[in-house]
Amino acid sequence: MPVRWLVDISAEDVPSVGGKGASLGELTQAGLPVPSAFVVTADTYRTFLEETGLDEELSDVLDVDVEDSAALADAAATAKELVLDADLPDEVAETVLAAYDDLGDAPFVAVRSSATAEDLPDASFAGQQETYLNVTREDLLDRVRRCWASLFTQRAIYYREEQGFEHDAVDIAVVVQRMVDAEKSGVMFTSHPSTGAPTTIIEAAWGLGEGVVSGSVSPDNYVLDRKSGDVTDVTVAEKKTLITRDEATGETVERDVPPERREERVLSEAELEELRKLGERVEDHYGTPQDVEWAIADGEVFMLQSRPITTIDDGADIAEETATDGESLVSGLGASPGIASGAARIVRGLDELDKVGQGDVIVTEMTTPDMVPAMKRASGIVTDEGGMTSHAAIVSRELGVPAVLGTGSATTVLTDDQPITIDGDRGTVEAGRAEPDEQREPVEEARPTTPVKPMTATEVKVNVSIPEAAERAAATGADGVGLLRTEHMILSTNQTPERYVEKHGADAYTDELVQGIRTVADEFYPRPVRVRTLDAPTDEFRQLEGGENEPHEHNPMLGYRGLRRSLEERELFELELAAFAELYEMGYDNVEVMFPLVTDGRDAEAARDALAEAGVDTEKRRWGVMVETPAAALCAEEFCEAGASFVSFGTNDLTQYTLAVDRNNELVADRFDELHPSVLALIEGVIETCREHDVDTSICGQAGSKPEMVDFLVERGVSSISANVDAVRDVQHEAKRVEQRLILDDIR
Ligand code: PEP
Ligand code: MG
Repeated sequence: MPVRWLVDISAEDVPSVGGKGASLGELTQAGLPVPSAFVVTADTYRTFLEETGLDEELSDVLDVDVEDSAALADAAATAKELVLDADLPDEVAETVLAAYDDLGDAPFVAVRSSATAEDLPDASFAGQQETYLNVTREDLLDRVRRCWASLFTQRAIYYREEQGFEHDAVDIAVVVQRMVDAEKSGVMFTSHPSTGAPTTIIEAAWGLGEGVVSGSVSPDNYVLDRKSGDVTDVTVAEKKTLITRDEATGETVERDVPPERREERVLSEAELEELRKLGERVEDHYGTPQDVEWAIADGEVFMLQSRPITTIDDGADIAEETATDGESLVSGLGASPGIASGAARIVRGLDELDKVGQGDVIVTEMTTPDMVPAMKRASGIVTDEGGMTSHAAIVSRELGVPAVLGTGSATTVLTDDQPITIDGDRGTVEAGRAEPDEQREPVEEARPTTPVKPMTATEVKVNVSIPEAAERAAATGADGVGLLRTEHMILSTNQTPERYVEKHGADAYTDELVQGIRTVADEFYPRPVRVRTLDAPTDEFRQLEGGENEPHEHNPMLGYRGLRRSLEERELFELELAAFAELYEMGYDNVEVMFPLVTDGRDAEAARDALAEAGVDTEKRRWGVMVETPAAALCAEEFCEAGASFVSFGTNDLTQYTLAVDRNNELVADRFDELHPSVLALIEGVIETCREHDVDTSICGQAGSKPEMVDFLVERGVSSISANVDAVRDVQHEAKRVEQRLILDDIR
């Protein structure tokens, strides 16, 4: 059957209509109000391949070494072209258009790909994520073909190869659904999302649902007692913008809400009641609490999607029971939270890494990039040296491994095989083991325990330094990556960039960066990932192979690092920028480019021009600069004029350069204050200027994880905040709290 209607589809039909199609069919069969739709089945895609002879052609084209970036790019481009240029068999074209005509009155439709490969852990990797809104009859066949072609992006091909999926075994279906011209829309939790109590929670805003789902609009919030039907709580938000269809172009656009409707309540008692009943029916149908997307058009309520709420806390939080001897052995900085027990393994050199087994505690002077694989096996990390921004601190936090750093003497006080328990909050190391804990699951621990992501107008993102931490960072539900530091990718090769190029060649260097960035960009796709070009300080790079050639500087912090170094070492910089050009070419349109330690507009222009010379369209792609010096803060206007899409506060450096306090110098550590009025004044000025120019502002220094800084920034109107993995959820709540306070202040 070339097409199937939702009324004839149930949950068993995934192989034919894909996951999206099957779930919409299931809802329709249950009598729930789903906008009418049909599915162009996976069989139709097969027929298309066979009748056009494309199946064989594609399998030849895709027979490439995916590690060879150029060959992969060629294969993807050719495959896509083949699919887009092939004519649909007449019968298929006629059936699809006839089905469209059966929808009546030539409606706009949404055309979405629907993955049939349920065994792919995340269909977004497989490239089955295409969605086209407001499609007309004229464009319909082309959009269907585009959904099919989405199987052949470089990303999708690479991923299938890596996972061992045969390209020709992956099918794709396409859902064609009547668009709902929603006057209001939102989401509903049919039961309380963290406790499972019979409470219905509804969030609602004007216009299409995209605004509420993506968090770009602050919605009204309604709480209902499901048993009595009483509305127990109503919070009306100020809704400044809405998403709607432009009458003239048919495109989805963001508009200002007319002033008189901004503070108007979206849902009436009757509508709430109708939604609540609908929620009851969906939950009954599936037998589990659901997270529903809904819309109201012409007084009619529609359900657009329903997913189970899987993370209701069953209240089984058992207090940690410890059975240590209580004898404190050493103490230091609690640098990565959590409690871990295991046998101590004293690691004095890289040749001793093998002795670290699963669940052991690494005890070492200081961690290095070569230790990352062992750090992943370990249950905890203890070091003699290192502070909150050291390699050990950043990596252990990102991996979710508890760590106590800077103990001064752990490698001499502790002994090999000694059972110890470390507390990464308090910074203590005790003798003995805590009760055997459940197997730790760092990725699961990073996942919020309640699926209600606090809806904030301020985006809350996450910092990532090592690609290995990407999965855990993505599990936080952050809105993207606010800072991906490329230094750690280079450090992990244990060679300076110059040495790496000498040994492996220029292409290999670019490729190293492409692979590292791609791991993170894949994990977050389509959420944006802001990648920073190299900020290589000579003293940190001296420890690497080839580091003997690093210049000696009187004061490396004020010297040859960040963009100023990149602009001098043009050849390396070009290889780095080539990695971005390649990633865009591969379809990673979620990547953004950020330049570190710029001084003024001239720096920004030079960086922009270099990026353009590398083949990146600087008008189309998002790029920006870090504000890490008072000079940069005072030049915000110049960055806006240079065409930056965003600026990001690097408060680690901005604080050290404003207060003249070396961020690594323990003697003045108590003077390092990111909340100092002078630092805040600089930040405030930049936000004000950027807002005038409609340029985004964000923070990616450590201070973004501090509630006081979040308060300050949200009040001033920052666009996004990037926090450490373990702080994301708290920052979301804090941002929401401040946003609501601002709304209330406005009303009162
Ligand atoms: C900063 O300076 O705040 C920053 C994020 O960059 P880094 O810590 O890598 O210098
Ligand atoms: Mg910095």
